[in-house]
Amino acid sequence: MSTLNADPNCIFCKIIAGQIPSRKVYEDDDVFAFHDIHPWAPVHFLIIPKRHIPSMAQVGAADQALLGKIMMLVPQLALEQGCEPYPQGGYRLVTNTGEQGGQEVHHLHFHVMGGPRPWLRG
Ligand code: 5GP
Ligand code: ZN
Repeated sequence: MSTLNADPNCIFCKIIAGQIPSRKVYEDDDVFAFHDIHPWAPVHFLIIPKRHIPSMAQVGAADQALLGKIMMLVPQLALEQGCEPYPQGGYRLVTNTGEQGGQEVHHLHFHVMGGPRPWLRG
């Protein structure tokens, strides 16, 4: 499993390790997905690499396959979790990066938000 460089102080590394409970959406060797604890929308889950990458700012060429896998999972998991089909349905994909980008948890994550409006936020 690709958790070699897990950060012991990282809340999402603890979620991957099962040390903090979460509502799991998906898991494979490289990727974990779980429902956001404070959903903005009827569907709101996070997709994260198991490896502790702090943000998009640290992504490089070696991460191409990992990021490609995550992007491929977005439409599949969105529909499985109840987002309605494109184009009437759809979803929002968001990755906050750094302080000015509004990032609060410094383990790379992709928000997938969808479902009927109005949403709580966004
Ligand atoms: P950011 O602002 O960093 O893009 O988003 C972090 C997200 O993680 C927030 O939407 C927040 O609700 C979610 N979050 C923070 N702590 C936890 C937690 O312990 N469990 C779950 N499921 N989500 C969390
Ligand atoms: Zn982490």
